[in-house]
Amino acid sequence: MRWTQTYIPTLRDAPAEAELISHKLLVRAGYIRRLASGIYLYLPLMQRVIQKFSQIVREEMDAAGAVEITMSALAPAEVWQKSGRYETAGREQMRLKDRHGRDYVLNGTHEEVITSLVAGELKSYKQLPLNMYQIQIKFRDEIRPRFGLMRGREFIMKDAYSFDADVESHRLSYQKMVDAYFKIFKRAGLDSRMVESDTGAMGGESAHEFIVIVDTSAGEEYLSFCDTCECAANREKATFRDENPPTIDTETKDLEKVTTPNVTSIEQVTKFLKAKFLKVDAQRLVKTLIYNADGKPVVALIRGDRELNETKFNNLVHAVELELADEEMVRKVTGAPVGFAGPVGLKDIPIYADNEVLALKNIIVGANENDTHYLNANLDRDFTITESGDIIAASEGDLCPKCEGRLMCKKGIEVGNTFMLGTKYSESMGAKFLDNNGKEKPFFMGSYGIGITRTPQAAVERYHDDSGIIWPKNIAPYQVEIVPLNYKQDPLREAADSIYAELTAAGIDTLLDDRADRAGVKLNDADLIGCPVRITIGAKSLDAGNVELKARNSSDVQLVQVSEIHEAVKAMLETLK
Ligand code: ATP
Ligand code: MG
Repeated sequence: MRWTQTYIPTLRDAPAEAELISHKLLVRAGYIRRLASGIYLYLPLMQRVIQKFSQIVREEMDAAGAVEITMSALAPAEVWQKSGRYETAGREQMRLKDRHGRDYVLNGTHEEVITSLVAGELKSYKQLPLNMYQIQIKFRDEIRPRFGLMRGREFIMKDAYSFDADVESHRLSYQKMVDAYFKIFKRAGLDSRMVESDTGAMGGESAHEFIVIVDTSAGEEYLSFCDTCECAANREKATFRDENPPTIDTETKDLEKVTTPNVTSIEQVTKFLKAKFLKVDAQRLVKTLIYNADGKPVVALIRGDRELNETKFNNLVHAVELELADEEMVRKVTGAPVGFAGPVGLKDIPIYADNEVLALKNIIVGANENDTHYLNANLDRDFTITESGDIIAASEGDLCPKCEGRLMCKKGIEVGNTFMLGTKYSESMGAKFLDNNGKEKPFFMGSYGIGITRTPQAAVERYHDDSGIIWPKNIAPYQVEIVPLNYKQDPLREAADSIYAELTAAGIDTLLDDRADRAGVKLNDADLIGCPVRITIGAKSLDAGNVELKARNSSDVQLVQVSEIHEAVKAMLETLK
């Protein structure tokens, strides 16, 4: 492709709203433009990246035995009502009405649509297993669309759905997708980590996420993995061993109210009480967190030295939207300012306790009164709870649940995920087949997503430098860019044109910067757009029959004879990721 023939609107400055380097670079390098919040246009370079990545995905899905289809972006609300997710999807679901006033959904995922396709049509065990996938646009009214293509309201996803007759075959289908995912991300130049994840609103039996670890602030996912064994999990799911189990009193003591003027944080309370009563440790202090669950208050109790994990917590609460209560709600619930909440005396509010709290005796909690705490509160005697479970977050340095190793917590970008759904959707939507005994059974389903637009941005976040993007070769828009420093000079132009023709004929995707611009502008743009290999043609070296060959990820420059450039480019591409 000739630069002057395509459209690569590079910019000097990044848009003000771009926080992530990958977002800034994709805009500055002329890959994407924002139409509205979370809605992007893919310009020619991005289109090529998307096509290259999609092709990798397609090849690996096909090789794993999946078949490609295309489902509609639009679905009647009834399809979603059948599974019950029309009610639970919350405000993330994009909805609209047609001219007759009927309700529609712009699909954010396609479990419902595909299940309604197979229900009543895929009838016999002989047609199983079956795995169908598509690469298609999804719509989600994300609370915080941000980071460019990372979290859009419209984005492209590959989604696959497997149908199996029994659980063994279901596991096999799942494993095939997992294997394919590792191959896909590897071919795209990305090291991915597969971690156990929460099944969340999707439901089902087990789920995994594929995460690209990044050092920058781009990661929205926290994952924790052991520095010693293979244990890895999404932070929403991660567990750990208690390193400092608290000494538990044998006797319950009398409830005692103490004045704690102006001490609200756990550290302040511990310090204050220590000074006054000595034997107080943070583990005996229990934090009472008040949350707003779809407009109603709920309470979480966790040990003072722990952090709440909201996803784990919501697995008990089952709210569509769960957020920390504001000051007004806290005051209404406790009758006290923030910092003095406690479970004793709270009426008609669901209280969820972390498992660790159940084991404690004589705990210290807020007394729902300004500047007051209780000492020696005890479960059942002084307060009751609605339910308990594991609701705390694992942190860096915690003990691995399986070995003596320590957990490392890193940020990563979720690029794909896999869900073993079991019979959840097939049962709720009545999708059944006849087994080999002629008995009607629900399908075992799996669902598997990959972010087709998010993954390339994750690659940019992972691979860039101060000058621009450094694409992995298999998803780069062009593998090679030729930069004649002055395209108006005959010898330079002729050499550039002939190398361009030769590489293109050999099937190497090549971009020729045939603009009349200054050399500096062209070289800066080449670094910015990030093709993995650059051929620079300058008058001086060309006099000796040479051009300069350089990999984008290195500062080494090789002088190569024009007649040998094709071989040299091939050899260089071989060595690149
Ligand atoms: P997240 O936790 O990031 O919201 P998710 O669990 O909602 O992701 P899925 O519904 O499983 O994601 O979607 C499959 C894949 O689609 C994700 O792994 C991700 O790569 C991509 N994806 C999800 N939401 C978005 C979005 N808003 N913008 C771009 N890509 C997305
Ligand atoms: Mg999501």
